[in-house]
Parts: sequence; C-alpha cells; structure tokens
Amino acid sequence: MPSTMLKNAFRAQKQLFSYADSFFEASGTAVAMVNDGSKKLLAVSGNGAHAFHGKDCDGVRFCELSVQNAKALHALLPFTKPVSHKGHPFTIGLGDRLGIATPGHIKAISGYDAFPVLAQQSIRELTLTGRTFEEVIAAASFGVLQVGYTGGYGADGDHLKTREEIKMALDCGCTMITLDCSNNIDAAIANACDEEIDTLYAALPASVKTHYENNYVGKEFPVIGEISFKQLKRTVLVFYKAITHTVDCFRFIESVKTHDVDFELSVDETLSITTPVEHFVIANELHLHGITPVSVAPHFSGEFEKGIEYVGDLNAFARDYAAHQQIADHFGYKLSLHSGSDKFSVFSAVGRISNCHVHVKTAGTSWLEALRVVARANPSLYRRAHRFALANRAKAEQYYHVSTDSNTIPNIDLESDEYLVEYLSIPASRQTMHITYGILLNEAWFRNAFFACLHTHENDYQAELVRHIGKHLSLLVSGKMKIEA
Ligand code: ZN
Repeated sequence: MPSTMLKNAFRAQKQLFSYADSFFEASGTAVAMVNDGSKKLLAVSGNGAHAFHGKDCDGVRFCELSVQNAKALHALLPFTKPVSHKGHPFTIGLGDRLGIATPGHIKAISGYDAFPVLAQQSIRELTLTGRTFEEVIAAASFGVLQVGYTGGYGADGDHLKTREEIKMALDCGCTMITLDCSNNIDAAIANACDEEIDTLYAALPASVKTHYENNYVGKEFPVIGEISFKQLKRTVLVFYKAITHTVDCFRFIESVKTHDVDFELSVDETLSITTPVEHFVIANELHLHGITPVSVAPHFSGEFEKGIEYVGDLNAFARDYAAHQQIADHFGYKLSLHSGSDKFSVFSAVGRISNCHVHVKTAGTSWLEALRVVARANPSLYRRAHRFALANRAKAEQYYHVSTDSNTIPNIDLESDEYLVEYLSIPASRQTMHITYGILLNEAWFRNAFFACLHTHENDYQAELVRHIGKHLSLLVSGKMKIEA
C-alpha cells in the first residue's frame, strides 16, 4: 500500500513529516508535504510516483516544488488546480508575491463564506519578482495541499493589457482574466473644455457617432435616467476605444480558452474617477455585444494607495459605491475593489451595500506581514532592509503611486529592536516597504536570509496573516450582517 509505505517512511524520519493535513491518497498513489529543515518538498509513493520528478529514498520519491511537479499534482488531486469562481457571491483575491503565503491565507478565510483567488499577480508584479504565472500557480497548489484545503481556488492574471498577455496567462492555467483598459482610455479628455469636446467628437468616425447617438440620445435608462448629449460625447471620447478593446479581448478569450474563465474589466488604474454614467455606458455596450463580465472594477472616489488606509470622504465613497452597485446589479455582475489591502474604513460600507456580493483584491500585504515576522525574529536583517528600502524608495515610486512622506519615519538607528515591528504600522515606513519589495527581493543578501527566516518561523507568519486578512474579512462580513439582523 502506498500510503502505508509513505507513513512508514515518515515514521522512520520523524522530523520530515511536518504537515499532517497534507496526506492524501488517490489512484494507488500517496502524497504529503514534508519539511527537511531548510525547505519544503513533496513526498510521493505508489503507482503514480513516476509522474513526479525527484530523488528516491526507501520507496518514497522526494520532489522539489516545481512547476512540473505541480502539474503532476493537479492530475492526481484536482482540488490543487485553480478553477473558475463563477457563482460564488463573495470572492477575495489574495496576491502572494513571495509564494509562501497560501497556507496562512487559507487559514485566514476559514470560517468565512469567501472563495479565495490564491494565485493573483499582475505583469508588473511578475516582472519585479522575476516569477511566471506557472510558478505563482504552483506555489498556490502546494500551499493548498500543505493545509489539506479542498474548497477550490482561483488564479487571476491581474491587470493584463494585451491579447499576448492574456494568451500567456491562459496557457499557464489562469482561471480569471482581469483586463486593464488604461492604455485605451483617453484620460486627458477629462480635462478638456466643452468646445474641445465638440471638436474632438466631430472628428470621430461616423459609424462610432451613429452607434452611440442611436443608442443613447433621448433615451431613459434604468438606474441612471437620461444621459445628456454633452455627457455622452465626453464618455464616448474617453471610453470608446477601451470598449472596443474589451469586446475584442473577450472574444479572443472565448476563442482560445480551454477551461472556464472569469472575466473582469478594470478601469481603476485611470486618472479620473469613474462616473455612474460612464460605468453604465461601458456596461451597456458590453451587454449589447452579449457580454456579461463576472466583475467590473471602477475607479472609486478617494485614494486607494498601496499598504495604507483609505484616504477620502467616507460618506462620498459610500454614495459613489452604492451608485456603481446599482449598475452592477442591473447588468448582473459584481463590483471589484482593487488595492483593498488595509482599507479597513471602507469595508463595512462595502459589505453592507453589496451584501457581500463583491470581489476584493488584496496584494502585497502578505509581504508586509512577512516583514513583521522578520522585524521580531531577525532585527539586524530588518534594519538593513529598512535602510536599503529608504535609499531606494524613489526608484520604486516609478511603479507605484504613494503620497506618504519618508521624512516622517523615525530614525531606525535610534530605536530599540523591540520597537522595529512598529515600523510596519507607521504609514510612511509601511508604504516604503510595500513598494520596494521587488528591489529588496532582488538582493541576494536579503532574499536568502528573508526566506530562511520565514521558513523557520512559518507558524508565526501564518498567525500574522490570519490576524491581518481576518480583519479585512470580519469588517466586510460585519456590513452584511447588519442587513440580515
Ligand atoms: Zn487594479
């Protein structure tokens, strides 16, 4: 029996068998995740072991956590493979730039009726961390096995802009595609005066003008009422190329996909806030083309900066969110809230207005929680990383918009080791560490010591994630419960 063989091998080498929940048997093959002290491996025995690549020892094959072995694992245990989340009302994207946060993320959602998108990375994140979509999915697959989670998870190719990027993400197994239309949105028009709008609109192809005028002028619409010709002209000028691009990409996905795909349209990374009229026209155009996305991410009012609280008027946000929610309800999809990490002040409103029918994306926050572990376990490494991040913050600001002032960060040379963890609660230093992940992880001195520290303190890291992500979830769900009460 393969399971007996595997269990006996573990019994003989007790220190290896670290993850009791990871023990599974299928098709005459037994697998489990093990820890050899410095790294994790997949142990396999039985008929199916030949599908995995590794070193044999006493009838057990010890395998690296590679992309190839993840694919073999998907074939043996389908629950380790990402799937579509269609039909799940409450979904949460849990980006993991390190490839080690999945066990903590799964423990964080336990007890909540939330479907996780455990593999979620943008091209920008992949570039900064030197990873591929396949590696991101492999890391999530082994994380799922480690804690024995069989509830299913998604994989989001986040903020993709072209057919080529979409094709690559689909080929790698992504089950969700988030299309970012910002390259096709003419944001400069938001600042144009009425005369300029008239001139630019007059220059549009006749077919474009006819289509929009026939479908929108003088009509009464649900949720938003009438759209003035003036509003229409502006909306068409800003968005018509993005709408064409979205239809093109959606059709492309339909034509090449070999598995179910959740399609999200994101217009959040644009310069201007999305108005309800703009949102309605975009949604209505997709509807006219027979397209219903699974989710849409408007650019909501206020600032959703990385790693810090929401900045803006909470009442205005709630009104804005409610208007977008009505449009989403009308067309039959969910709103998606990006850069949701640490935006605690808006979650109760989001949960209440959407009745937790929402997709929330968090990313990068798992990196900050990892640094919290490092600050306690290896103070000298944290100090060196902190100084390095400060010195390189300007470089990272090319990729991420941040507003905190690094001059407000207390001098680390004057602080005790016990104080270090506080740096991850100070907005300016938290944001500095948040955006410099790519720069730090590219430094060998940091990278090796950082991963070694987290490997040793794996349980502490999970506890931090359970606390931090749990806070997001409990606030979102608290809004929902207020409706039901
Ligand atoms: Zn976004």
